[in-house]
Amino acid sequence: MRIDVITLFPDMFKGPLTESILQRASDDNLIDIKFHDLREYGIGKYRQVDDKPYGGGAGMLFRVDVVIDAIEGVTEKCKMQNAEYKIQNTCLPDRQMKCNIPHRVYLSPRGKRLTQTRVESIAKKHGWLILLCGHYEGIDQRIIDGGWIDEEISIGDYVLTGGEIPAMVLIDAVARQIPGVLGKDESVQEESFSKALDRKKEYPHYTRPDEFRGLNVPDVLREGHHAKIEEWRKKNIK
Ligand code: SAM
Repeated sequence: MRIDVITLFPDMFKGPLTESILQRASDDNLIDIKFHDLREYGIGKYRQVDDKPYGGGAGMLFRVDVVIDAIEGVTEKCKMQNAEYKIQNTCLPDRQMKCNIPHRVYLSPRGKRLTQTRVESIAKKHGWLILLCGHYEGIDQRIIDGGWIDEEISIGDYVLTGGEIPAMVLIDAVARQIPGVLGKDESVQEESFSKALDRKKEYPHYTRPDEFRGLNVPDVLREGHHAKIEEWRKKNIK
């Protein structure tokens, strides 16, 4: 999957996306994440990207002309790169069509709430995401009304300073649904909110030692009776 992030703060993404599973997924060409500095599309000597809201009020808004230049510029630039990208393993044959059309997401508290079902659907349906991270007071509504955004996604009913952390949350959750991203010891089949668990929360887990300061591992899990373990786990999902 290809992911292009449009942000004023590309450096914020260093760390969360360059460690552990996500770094391995990049190294294995399973995901390809690129960052695009909105400032490069800014206006004038100071590369202005925002302006005061009509009607007054605190905070600044990303300008429609700047953001649309960025979305269209990134789309064109990446379409060409994607032609090459398809040749590699990163875009599996059944997804090649999907890699030509970006799914453009604006991270916003006003968007639809991100759930595991939505994450699975994004990972399955799309081979190319363009993520727009807002800042300050947000963005000019015409960016959405004009059809340049396909979906607004919120990571929860609270307000963060910018769309960068929500974008990281979305990237992490979607990436681990891509076949091959998780190692054989990790699985998305039977975990909290998965279909296999009826979208409920997973049962608790234990490892060694058997006893720690008076706290014991449930006997049933240590006894190794498969059917009984299954029954215990079923009983402990919620
Ligand atoms: N004025 C906006 C409002 O009241 O809905 C809040 C703007 S917020 C301070 C700045 C940016 O952070 C937003 O444009 C959005 O990209 C991002 N953001 C903040 N909270 C978010 C959330 N819960 N989910 C997704 N994005 C969020």
